[in-house]
Amino acid sequence: DPSKARYHPVRDACWARGRPVPYLALARTLELVEATSARLKIIDTLANYLRSVLALTPDDLLPSVYLCLNQLAPAHEGLELGVAESYLMKAVAGSTGRTLAQVRAGVAREGDLGRVAEAARAAQRTMFPAPPLTLRGVFAALHDIARTTGQASMNKKISKIQTLYVACRHSEARYLIRSLEGKLRIGLAEQSVLQALAVAVALTPPGPGGVTELDASKGMSPEEFKARVEATARAIKRSHAQCPHYGRVLAALRAHGAAGLARHVRLTPGIPLKPMLAHPSKHVSHIFDRFERERFTCEWKYDGERAQIHVPARGAARHLPGAAVFSRNQEDNTSKYPDVLRRLPALLKDSVTSCVLDCEAVAYDTVNKQILPFQVLSTRKRKDAREEDIRVQVCVYVFDLLYLNGEPTVHRPLAERRELLREHFQETPGEWQFATSRDCTSVEEVQQFMEEAVKNSCEGLMVKALTGDQSQYDIARRSHNWLKLKKDYLEGMGDTLDLVVIGAYLGRGKRAGVYGGFLLACRDPDSEQYQALCKLGTGFSDDELRDLTAQLRPLALAAPRAYYCCGAAPDVWLDAARVWELRGADLSLSPAHRAAIGRVAPDKGISLRFPRFVRARPDKRPEQATTSAQVADMYLAQDQVKNSAPTANNYD
Ligand code: ATP
Repeated sequence: DPSKARYHPVRDACWARGRPVPYLALARTLELVEATSARLKIIDTLANYLRSVLALTPDDLLPSVYLCLNQLAPAHEGLELGVAESYLMKAVAGSTGRTLAQVRAGVAREGDLGRVAEAARAAQRTMFPAPPLTLRGVFAALHDIARTTGQASMNKKISKIQTLYVACRHSEARYLIRSLEGKLRIGLAEQSVLQALAVAVALTPPGPGGVTELDASKGMSPEEFKARVEATARAIKRSHAQCPHYGRVLAALRAHGAAGLARHVRLTPGIPLKPMLAHPSKHVSHIFDRFERERFTCEWKYDGERAQIHVPARGAARHLPGAAVFSRNQEDNTSKYPDVLRRLPALLKDSVTSCVLDCEAVAYDTVNKQILPFQVLSTRKRKDAREEDIRVQVCVYVFDLLYLNGEPTVHRPLAERRELLREHFQETPGEWQFATSRDCTSVEEVQQFMEEAVKNSCEGLMVKALTGDQSQYDIARRSHNWLKLKKDYLEGMGDTLDLVVIGAYLGRGKRAGVYGGFLLACRDPDSEQYQALCKLGTGFSDDELRDLTAQLRPLALAAPRAYYCCGAAPDVWLDAARVWELRGADLSLSPAHRAAIGRVAPDKGISLRFPRFVRARPDKRPEQATTSAQVADMYLAQDQVKNSAPTANNYD
């Protein structure tokens, strides 16, 4: 048990200076991380490993960070693992002389193919052991597997996986298989990895010519060292927020140290940012409480798809080389919007040489000059659209400017960003428009503006701080400086919920053979669990259920994931992959469901009553589903809960 032994990443994995990092060094580190839930201990363990990499084999820092995060490349490169469990089971069975049924039974028992694979590998004797795996070798092989496409790609992938798997020692198999599944399940959030990197860099600072000091904390007081870690963490997190590209951030860190990051890593057109997000607000009057002292502005909240438009440079005439459209998740949507790209030059006045714009692409009826519902937009082809085949036109509503002519503008107040927008960009009715806005000063005015927004097919309003520091663009943050006010909130419970489908119920009677209902869960980032919140069974037509069944059936699992937290089992467990937006009558405490358990009541979860399907959210990953903390907040914000005595119950 490495958590008890005096584990040392270098000695224990036989790792020598300048040599490739053995994959075992990372696997041992992940074992330790998995064995604890204490965040400080996790950061300490990981920092210890990263320091060793910095000092001994700095070229392996980038693959180390990526493998800890279970990523292969920046999101916009679209390179993803996530090999289906059934294929991984086949690979494990095939390499260890077990039957598929045995492997399946193991997974049903353990709830984790990684551990089953580790045990199967350990029980196997090999006459001629393969050379030990190196971290960079595994990283390159995972890239290769993710890139293997086309005919017979699955068989090719399985054979590549088997080559890696048979070379695994100790816990390497567990983490290799989990990486391939797309889930490490060790409770390691990106912010913890960045913090660990900050500790490692503060202790063992890199710079021109490599690491010069092995323990820079010597001679410092604990307070001094803490301040140094905090400054380093701020520099790293800030650079990564502006330029979410580990290749660039780590290269600059190695070459210039933490102090040089701000100068060398900046917001870069072509590299999509995580967008600023809003908090829900339930009453118009809350806006006035929130923005008591600052100025704010209201904008229509368009119901389409977020589009971050990047123009890295301006070529001759209308040519905009490298212009791209990115999604809310930093995916490259450029090939979805050839029409938008073609029209882009019309938006830019001659004064613009480069820019990044935050916008909403909305389906638009060009004949009646009307916004169309989101559902219409979702029928557009998602990739490689040809302009001549496009049936659904879009109008792009521009609401923010993040970069202009070589300079980030995110630190300027919104009022200035808006002025720059109007100065350097121009509208084309039905194609490019600035978000309709009004700087309201009374509750009645906000209500009136809200009604106008809803009449014009918008979801409601976005209310934003307009001046002062608070009105900066908070990259990657869900901020109280942006409040969303949707029509629905004013009528019912807080926000809609974005939930993950984790199970299905078999249909009965004329619905036999298809799924007739679904189990949905929110996500608890602290425990990395998916916690069941409701059963959804109504509101689907027979055809819709047939379609959904066909889509979801490949996600069926032999057993629930170890990180599912549910009261009762559905008929079929499904891999957490799909996010659906749901509306409900209200949230109530529930002995049956486990969502947000312990947050409001020690032994009761929260359930969504009378859930209704709003739409699928292909633009959200399961990790971005509504969190248990948000569910608890929404529960507590309900009038009937707020107004009841603290001891009162309102059970499901
Ligand atoms: P989440 O539920 O995680 O906050 P979401 O994608 O479900 O995100 P909402 O929070 O409901 O969206 O609303 C924020 C979204 O509204 C933005 O991501 C953007 O796509 C859209 N939007 C429409 N109009 C505006 C606007 N004027 N300003 C900012 N965002 C807008």
